[in-house]
Amino acid sequence: MRFATLVGPNKKTYFVRVEGDAAVPIAKAYERPGLDPFRDLVESGKNPKKAKAIAKAFPLKGAKFKPAITAPQKLIAIGLNYRKHAAETGMQIPKAPMSWCKYTSSLIGHGETIKYRPTDSTKIDYEVELAFVIGRRAKDVAEKDALKYVFGYTCCNDVTARDHQFAEGQFGRAKSFDTFSPLGPFIVTADEIPDPQTLQLATRLNGQTMQNENTADMIFGCAELIAYLSRFMTLEPGDVVSTGTPSGVGVARKPPVYMKDGDVVELDIERVGVLKNPVKAV
Ligand code: ZN
Repeated sequence: MRFATLVGPNKKTYFVRVEGDAAVPIAKAYERPGLDPFRDLVESGKNPKKAKAIAKAFPLKGAKFKPAITAPQKLIAIGLNYRKHAAETGMQIPKAPMSWCKYTSSLIGHGETIKYRPTDSTKIDYEVELAFVIGRRAKDVAEKDALKYVFGYTCCNDVTARDHQFAEGQFGRAKSFDTFSPLGPFIVTADEIPDPQTLQLATRLNGQTMQNENTADMIFGCAELIAYLSRFMTLEPGDVVSTGTPSGVGVARKPPVYMKDGDVVELDIERVGVLKNPVKAV
């Protein structure tokens, strides 16, 4: 089953369940930031898979996408989580997951534009990442039970201003410029992906393959990440964890390749979907 956040023909934004070619609105996105329709739905005791329509269904085709989750309480990113990526950056394999937060004001949807100001940075890099959406509150979860807390999976582009990342030494700001977190297009429910550590994931920049790896190369798998993170912080419904990027990032290429005005970046994760965004200098 697939879910998305779409703008309906009445210009209102809805969290929708996909049924064939139709989008069935099951929660209304708030016009003010900070409240998430998915979290609200789950907190009110409704099962997104069965929730009743709150507005007329509309065609999926031609609908405008917003971030798959519009206002997660947490958007957690994981670093250095693929063996070959750790090698290409010359870093040691971490002994525990390395995590930080991407601020949620950076979220955009499938088809929306990644914007950057060349006066701020011209070293704008792509990172294909498998992201998972938490379906119910998770605290001190054992690894063997962890995947039961996943509602579904989606694609996240962990866009990064590399010069800011390295200059500051902290990752949050350099990965949270406005528009730097494309998320979507769809959330594919966990029952359709019984083993998230078997998925091929790729980045194409203007049609050219830049990253192409399998989630089997991950150091800390999704279940281990949930067990680890939930030791320290309660994971809430709608929280998103982006699980790190494989090898092939622009900064590690010789010579480096960065995204620039007019580019189109496409992330492709097996069974999860294709997240495509144009890039524009502003
Ligand atoms: Zn990343």
